[in-house]
Amino acid sequence: MTRTVRDYIRTIADFPHEGIMFRDVTTLFADPRGFRMAIDQLLHPYAGIAIDKVAGLEARGFILGGAVAHQLSTGFVPVRKKGKLPGTVISEAYQLEYGEAVMELHDDAIVPGERVLIVDDLLATGGTAEAGIRLCRRLGAEVIGCAFVIDLPDLGGRARLEALGMPVHVLTAFE
Ligand code: 5GP
Repeated sequence: MTRTVRDYIRTIADFPHEGIMFRDVTTLFADPRGFRMAIDQLLHPYAGIAIDKVAGLEARGFILGGAVAHQLSTGFVPVRKKGKLPGTVISEAYQLEYGEAVMELHDDAIVPGERVLIVDDLLATGGTAEAGIRLCRRLGAEVIGCAFVIDLPDLGGRARLEALGMPVHVLTAFE
């Protein structure tokens, strides 16, 4: 039987903490057919749509976003965790279950008016993606959508991003 993107994703119990079912995409990335299928399906809704840049969220969003940007012939910009980017940055903090995290973007990564697609591997609460959207919008981007391989609908990220007016594209969901 033909394997789907979902079939290449491995689930590892109790990582990084007890009780967490970690959806591991390294097995998807490692398979030539799986990886190509994931990239093709991620960019499918954007064929013929004007996009200037793909913004990838650290770290698996770099792998997917880089391939999507290449295929769409756009630029690529990394949205990174605090302290990783060498140039002048803008920052956005967001809440984690325990504490706070900060994502950053070079302040010259986007020219006002550019159309940006945000890419990451997995949408959970939507906090990371919302920080990415806010960073891009602060630089004057028109964020045209967010694309993920996996959605965890129980955690509400999709509704959170849609409430920001953001079209969300996902390939598969895990309850
Ligand atoms: P959120 O901010 O939506 O709550 O969490 C999404 C971020 O956490 C993404 O950058 C994603 O890479 C990471 N993440 C959280 N849980 C998992 C998981 O089970 N598998 C993978 N691959 N990434 C996860």
